[in-house]
Amino acid sequence: MLDFDTAQNRLVQAGTRPEIAERVTVDQARGRILANNVSAAINIPPADNSAMDGYAIRFADFQEGISYPIQQRVYAGDLPQAIQPGQAIRLFTGSLIPEGADTIVIQEDCTETDGKLHINVAPVQGQHVRFTGEDMPAGKAILLKGTVIGSGQIAILASQGVTEIDVFPVPKIGILTTGNELAEPGQPLHAGQIYNSNASMLASLVKQLGSNVVRIVHAADTLEEIQDAISSLAEECDLVLTVGGVSVGDKDLVKPAIEASGGDMEMWRVRMKPGKPVALARLKGTPIVGLPGNPVSAYAVFTLMVSPLIRTMQGRTEVLPPLSYGRLDSQQDYQGDREEFLRVKAKSMPDGVLGLTPHAQQGSSIISSLAWASGLARIPADTKIAGGSTVAYYDFNLWGY
Ligand code: AMP
Ligand code: MG
Repeated sequence: MLDFDTAQNRLVQAGTRPEIAERVTVDQARGRILANNVSAAINIPPADNSAMDGYAIRFADFQEGISYPIQQRVYAGDLPQAIQPGQAIRLFTGSLIPEGADTIVIQEDCTETDGKLHINVAPVQGQHVRFTGEDMPAGKAILLKGTVIGSGQIAILASQGVTEIDVFPVPKIGILTTGNELAEPGQPLHAGQIYNSNASMLASLVKQLGSNVVRIVHAADTLEEIQDAISSLAEECDLVLTVGGVSVGDKDLVKPAIEASGGDMEMWRVRMKPGKPVALARLKGTPIVGLPGNPVSAYAVFTLMVSPLIRTMQGRTEVLPPLSYGRLDSQQDYQGDREEFLRVKAKSMPDGVLGLTPHAQQGSSIISSLAWASGLARIPADTKIAGGSTVAYYDFNLWGY
């Protein structure tokens, strides 16, 4: 059985990075992945301007006790005259710095009487000037290929006057749920049945990553139905996720169905808890990940193992889920021969440490723990972890970034 990190790395390698790009408007680009490096086309700011409301002077003209005739009033967007020696120009935040002026005196440090300025606090040369290109010099790389476009990246692009960018296509993902016992939400629940919660849960997780579920299929526990569904999903999608039927029970037919369709098993079973039965296969070039049916296992495997694969297929530079560290707030010691992922609720403590409280029910069928938890605490295999220890923590809210 593979250890967790090796298996996670296999999943990263199983994804093909995109080679083509598509053009989208910047306003539609949120959550997409940049397909090219972007360099600054213009200096930001494009010209020296004032950071404050006040007056521009030539620093060399400053003397205590003298006054300065006010030559001009310049609002943001106006073009100033060159400043005359011994004079001041009134300006405001964002006003261009007049040629010859080099220092801004803020209005709180001045008095203006009869069109003349008196400076009450000695200025420092160059103060309150925003210099051309100090934010983004023309030609400098400002965004790198593989970056997720968020609000800050959109601000950069808009500040450069850019309206369209090249992003990678969104991978098309298909989901296959399996099990004779499953009923669809909205349908009556007959004796022996449970509702199919994994389909909606996985579709939501895929969306949270900025990808797209193109088809969801359900198959009963027969080789024929599962085989048909896998073949057609593999044809249509860039990645197929199956859920359930991947363990060692009589009705665990996902592996046999993949093999009967001519697919290759690349990996099966990982030393992790929950999620041990996870499988990786390939059918006619399309990767297939078999997730365990228990909802908590499916959720954990998706976030820890499937998300790195999807991130690779999206063209992201950062493919592993972001990690932080916290203190396990538990009386219990943990030790096992598998990497264990506990559903925990994180809370910032007064000492500045992130406290991680495990959910009381860590069973892999406890769906209610998924909404309660803020993330997963990682307990390394074959290591005794006492309550109060510092452990790695995966925050559910960071998976989309
Ligand atoms: P399996 O891996 O198919 O043996 O399923 C393990 C457990 O997960 C069983 O209790 C199943 O009823 C349950 N399960 C499987 N698929 C789903 C699903 N789509 N939604 C909710 N529970 C499921
Ligand atoms: Mg099943």
